[in-house]
Amino acid sequence: MKKELFDFLNTDLQFVKGVGPVLASKFDEILGGRRVLDFLLHKPSYVRPREITDSVINVQPGEIITIPVLIKSYKKGGVFRGRRAPTQIMCNDKLGVPITIQFFNTTFLDYWLNKLPIGQWRIISGKLEYNNNGGAIISHPEFIECLENAEKIPSIQAVYPSGEGLTQKNFANVRDQIFASLDTKVNDCETSVRDFFDALRTVHFPKSADDLLPNSGAILTLSYSELFAHQVAIAISRKHRQEIRSIRGVRKKKHDLMPKFYEVLTFKLTDAQERVIDEIFDDMKKPTPMMRLVQGDVGSGKTIVALSAATKMAESGTQTVLMAPTDTLAQQHFATLQSLCEKIGIVCDILTGRDKGRERTEKLISIKSGRTKLIVGTHAVFSDDTEYKDLGLVIIDEQHRFGVAQREAIRIKGNNPDVLALSATPIPRTLSMTIYGDMDISILNEKPAGRLPIKTTKLPIMRINDLVKRLSVQVENGAKVFWVCPLVEESETSDLTAAQERYDFLKSHFPDAGLVHGKMDKKKRDKVMSEFSNANSKMRVLVSTTVIEVGIDVPSASIIVIENAERFGLAALHQLRGRVGRGYAQSFCVLFYGKNITEDGIKRLDVLCETDDGFIIAEQDLMMRGVGELLGTKQSGWIAYNFVDYREHRDLFKLASRDAREMEIVSDWAKDLMFVFNREHRVGA
Ligand code: ADP
Ligand code: MG
Repeated sequence: MKKELFDFLNTDLQFVKGVGPVLASKFDEILGGRRVLDFLLHKPSYVRPREITDSVINVQPGEIITIPVLIKSYKKGGVFRGRRAPTQIMCNDKLGVPITIQFFNTTFLDYWLNKLPIGQWRIISGKLEYNNNGGAIISHPEFIECLENAEKIPSIQAVYPSGEGLTQKNFANVRDQIFASLDTKVNDCETSVRDFFDALRTVHFPKSADDLLPNSGAILTLSYSELFAHQVAIAISRKHRQEIRSIRGVRKKKHDLMPKFYEVLTFKLTDAQERVIDEIFDDMKKPTPMMRLVQGDVGSGKTIVALSAATKMAESGTQTVLMAPTDTLAQQHFATLQSLCEKIGIVCDILTGRDKGRERTEKLISIKSGRTKLIVGTHAVFSDDTEYKDLGLVIIDEQHRFGVAQREAIRIKGNNPDVLALSATPIPRTLSMTIYGDMDISILNEKPAGRLPIKTTKLPIMRINDLVKRLSVQVENGAKVFWVCPLVEESETSDLTAAQERYDFLKSHFPDAGLVHGKMDKKKRDKVMSEFSNANSKMRVLVSTTVIEVGIDVPSASIIVIENAERFGLAALHQLRGRVGRGYAQSFCVLFYGKNITEDGIKRLDVLCETDDGFIIAEQDLMMRGVGELLGTKQSGWIAYNFVDYREHRDLFKLASRDAREMEIVSDWAKDLMFVFNREHRVGA
């Protein structure tokens, strides 16, 4: 790839015209990166037709309508007798049928009124609804244009998965700017490069819904490229691991710590835990560095397996890092592990981005000297100023997007340490062979004895009041409740608003309820979390956006309510549900669904009501997942492909993996594709 093109793909989105640092960080949150490339890899989820029609009678309620209207009169909104009334603009369509445009948010009212002058024609586009009197209403139209500018409204609009603070207009603007610059840079490139960027163009400017289907030419090109990039990286990683096999000597045991490890356990290990620990210890004896993935359903007891590995390392005086995806999780691991380590005789410490100043320096010195044997933290454990005396093992817990590139980066930074990854996202075996082709896999397929399956029911959201009544009784009796608020797809109303509104509603029934969301200051959020975790606290209901992170352990919580469950992937729901059922009490999960749920949606929820076996659920998830991305999958899956659809592209998996294996030398284009898809830049970022 030409340097010019490469540099452009690496450009920070804040330098795209009309973006700037604030919007760029919002894009970062949604795209999982803030480069031009990250934007290009963000696939629109569907298309919205905006063909112009002459009359409201041609369009069904709930659908998008694009229509010329004649503006007749205004009725200003405001607060009347404590009730908020919207500002309304009365219009007629070409057949004289009345339509009302309304604005609830009156902050920019003059701006809108200027765009809709009385006595003139305008084309507007938005969602058509009807009020109780049968009048057609369009609230907050997304487009308002003069008749001569009608072509400014796209007749087919690509709709991007979005989030708080970003509108579809923001996406369209960035896309237009990027592609305007891209063309000149791609034009004189070789065919494979041009084909690839042509496919991206098709996906970002779809001409019909078909362009976004899994079997469209463009999506096939991109999916194959994505899989191929991944498979080449795996092949390389496998080769490297074999090459370094003889460099590393066998570790010598200096202390006897394992007996103490078994002594401090307050429970008996499950057979599965014992088997997996054996597998890990076997790896550690080998000259080839360990690269092992432990897949164990939520609550299967992975932390203690991690501790056994760290203890084994400490026996030879070697250090272990345990890396968690978030501060909160790192803190929680540290709280559990520290007291156990103390009893075993291992010095354990925590290192996150929050450590500053002298305290941090002291921690770093202790790590460098080799005194600290177990370092729990976030990706800060790999910041430039962190030096290890002898890092023998890196354990990665519940890491999202822990791809092959990250594995390689750790290998290089830590001088070929053993790597142990822990995941609660079960992946069917057939797939994991290709996805994790360079790793050995252990499966923790057993829960600690005495755990009751979580009783799961589905319920229409209309019955919320019934549920609240029942919950009140449970809460009186000491139950703790996680309440997960709906995900909002486009940011018409934000996730936060939804959570805030639900919180206000629940507070009238549960005055001590707490609220956490992603926009909250971390300290405040941790405070609420720890108050909720505290067994004696009065806070018995915790309302949250989807941020209750994978792995959060509040054993006393026994009820979880998930709103808009139909919009999550099954695996994601299973993860969320796993926040309860961690103690010995009977736990419950309520899946709320909206009125627009489809028959398939109901079937999917039924899977969860019937089983709590993560592997069955994962298999069903892949089989039943409809076209188009379900919300929440990005958060839960380790491998979140941008274009690949597990269900539709099984043959491509095989093809890409064969092509990668048969490749004699790594071509330039294969290297370019690895750059495009493997997101190396994330590690330690
Ligand atoms: P996960 O696999 O989801 O990370 P954890 O390691 O957090 O699970 O374990 C869940 C809970 O089960 C913890 O409270 C842990 O102490 C407990 N636990 C782990 N192993 C056992 C066991 N063999 N018997 C009983 N309880 C266990
Ligand atoms: Mg865990």
